[in-house]
Amino acid sequence: MTKVRIDGMRRRLLIGAAGFTGLTLAPGVFLTAAAEAESARRWGLLIDTNKCDKDCDACITGCKTENGWDGHGRPATDPQWIRKVNLLDRATGATRSLPVMCQPCKYPPCVDVCPTGASFKRADGIVLVDKHICIGCRYCMMACPYKARSFVHEAVEDQKPYAPRGKGTVESCTLCVHRVDAGRIPACVEACPAEDGGALAFGDLNDPASDISKRIAEYASVQIRADLGTDPGVRYQSL
Ligand code: SF4
Ligand code: SF4
Repeated sequence: MTKVRIDGMRRRLLIGAAGFTGLTLAPGVFLTAAAEAESARRWGLLIDTNKCDKDCDACITGCKTENGWDGHGRPATDPQWIRKVNLLDRATGATRSLPVMCQPCKYPPCVDVCPTGASFKRADGIVLVDKHICIGCRYCMMACPYKARSFVHEAVEDQKPYAPRGKGTVESCTLCVHRVDAGRIPACVEACPAEDGGALAFGDLNDPASDISKRIAEYASVQIRADLGTDPGVRYQSL
């Protein structure tokens, strides 16, 4: 009952302001008519693990700088909008290092379980948390198969106006929604120093003419835990 009532309030708020697409209504509320309307786009990432150096964390540094988060040296509770995961194939000795962030799922369990509607998916595929509605129950953290969400345990100072954070709420990679809505690429993609254009590519998965779609059509790539049926918007090449 509570969920229905709050969803209704949020919907009326968004519809009432639909003419102002791109404005930020208040910290934590990304005011985007795309949240209610159908979109032809689906934003996603293609990550070439062959190009990703295990000792490089430029994507993490770029994300921290852009979005104003940092750790306190406590890995169990620090924010992790993006992290590096190192894999070892014991049979062959082959290693891979891959950045893992919110995989913006087409069918996101984090949205399904949220009791307040704070966790939501925009029509262009980006999954966000409305900090004004989040009650910090952390159901979404448990539901996310990619461990992409973290809880803000401490008061936040000097936060970026376009990436609001709040003690007692859950957060995760926003795919740099503020940059994407301004026609720019996410900070991690821009920060990657790998040769030949970097290890990360960003674009519209629904546009067969986009660079990312052409590369996905040409080279084999996989989604992490595709068997779960969440249909992530991040694909990994050479994995
Ligand atoms: Fe939600 Fe996790 Fe999927 Fe991101 S990766 S959309 S946080 S379930
Ligand atoms: Fe929803 Fe916030 Fe609870 Fe996550 S922690 S399920 S976003 S209310």
